[in-house]
Amino acid sequence: MKKYDVVVIGAGPGGYVTAIRCAQLGLNTACVESWINDEGKPVLGGTCLNVGCVPSKALLDSSHHFDHIKHQSNVHGINVTGVSMDVNKMVSRKTKIIKTLTQGISGLFKKNKIDWLRGQAKIIGNKKIEISPTNEAHDEKTVVLANHIIIATGSVPTKIPSASIDDKLIVDSTGALKFNEVPRRLGVIGAGVIGLELGSVWNRLGSEVIVLEALPNFLSLVDPQVAKEAEKSLREQGLDIRLGAKVTGSGSNNREVTINYDDVNGKQQITVDKLIVAVGRSPNTAGLGADECGLELDQRGFIIVDDHCNTSLENIYAIGDVVRGPMLAHKASEEGVAIAERISGKPGYINYEKIPWVIYTWPEIAWVGKTEEQLKSGGIEYRTGSFPFMATGRAKTMGETNGFVKILGDAKTDRILGVHIFGPSASELIAEAVVTMEFDGCTEDLARTIHAHPTLSEAMHEAALAVDNRTIHL
Ligand code: FAD
Ligand code: AMP
Repeated sequence: MKKYDVVVIGAGPGGYVTAIRCAQLGLNTACVESWINDEGKPVLGGTCLNVGCVPSKALLDSSHHFDHIKHQSNVHGINVTGVSMDVNKMVSRKTKIIKTLTQGISGLFKKNKIDWLRGQAKIIGNKKIEISPTNEAHDEKTVVLANHIIIATGSVPTKIPSASIDDKLIVDSTGALKFNEVPRRLGVIGAGVIGLELGSVWNRLGSEVIVLEALPNFLSLVDPQVAKEAEKSLREQGLDIRLGAKVTGSGSNNREVTINYDDVNGKQQITVDKLIVAVGRSPNTAGLGADECGLELDQRGFIIVDDHCNTSLENIYAIGDVVRGPMLAHKASEEGVAIAERISGKPGYINYEKIPWVIYTWPEIAWVGKTEEQLKSGGIEYRTGSFPFMATGRAKTMGETNGFVKILGDAKTDRILGVHIFGPSASELIAEAVVTMEFDGCTEDLARTIHAHPTLSEAMHEAALAVDNRTIHL
């Protein structure tokens, strides 16, 4: 029986990054992965690379180009006629990107001498893992031993009885990444991150998109000022966002889908050509043997862990989407790196307060740290500074003037407590805020930092100056 220092279960951004870090630290490491792609081939990369972050961004980028060519070219004096979208080409571009990146991970596994064990892992004892092959039917089950087991089995789309996935007309986020034509009418259940990103893709390509969201508030996780601006902008782009709309049932007749929902006015019904169910993601522990080995799960099915990702069982850790906390790829990766380092006697640590969030609508939404609501309810006194992109030269030259940066600083210490951005390339701009906060920086630090001109980052600089009422360009 083969014995490893570490066996990682799952090769999403949690698992594969953990395996690489373990190997870098000299630990004899294997990673078990069961994912089979649409071509029937085993692949690494998990949700993020195969059906999550990367493919959704590929489609967002393609549809953004299309939208810009159609609606912005003229402003720049570029006359374009006869613009059309080849959806199959867009989707195969996405598939090529996934292929390159997933093959890249198998290259990294080889480089770091990590054994990729293909199949479904089940924990059958404190240090024993049984692996059942997923696509090579004649291969027998194997058992390996591990001193440390790191579970990174991720999450799967949440199902609701009122909209059963048929993978034809009613799809989850995975199905929504491979439509072969633009649906004329598209329904989306859930105005969360995934629903808005995928709704944006198909809206830009010409679908009439109706988003049904059960909650009365738009993006309740997000800073309310940002949420308000984002809602306004997405509505202007054509998304028909219906809040307080709880889907109660749906049915399809192989041509179209009828959706029933309740809102303040009573029972409603709409008919669409395709429906995307994007009501969140659920932790994935299927087949892992959690019950048999005594691994404790909470009521919602997440593996229970402490602040350091230790599970209820000795030398078994869990990270990423399968445990509490935000379902974000970088959170999964960093939890894994911290465990790898602690197993090797180093001080691995995760700063949960400083995890950046991004929603890749356009303009983008990005934030780190606390919202004003959280500070108010925690009784923390703060000062705020905001600056609109409209007042920066770079945003003007780009024709991307929608949005703003808002910085929240502690009223006494001036430490930055939160940064909220709605605007062009917010996903990139937020990094400056994260670094400053990671170093416990103050708004004054940002205010005294020289920012290149003309750049979007000047809005960050000016927002920091605004905390002290000394913006220059407003
Ligand atoms: P996963 O990526 O889900 O990987 C888990 C892996 O474990 C899978 O490959 C699975 O096959 C494998 N596995 C499970 N059980 C077993 C078993 N018993 N044996 C062997 N293998 C097993 N996050 C971001 O940060 N940014 C984004 O822009 C973003 N966009 C997203 C867009 C979409 C459409 C979706 C669906 C998600 C998006 N996410 C994004 C979320 C992100 O994909 C997840 O947070 C991330 O993938 C979690 O990583 P993970 O390693 O915990 O799990
Ligand atoms: P997220 O968890 O960010 O992916 O967002 C999923 C969204 O789906 C949440 O805002 C939920 O309120 C919403 N949602 C869940 N069930 C329903 C439903 N039956 N009808 C409408 N919206 C729903």
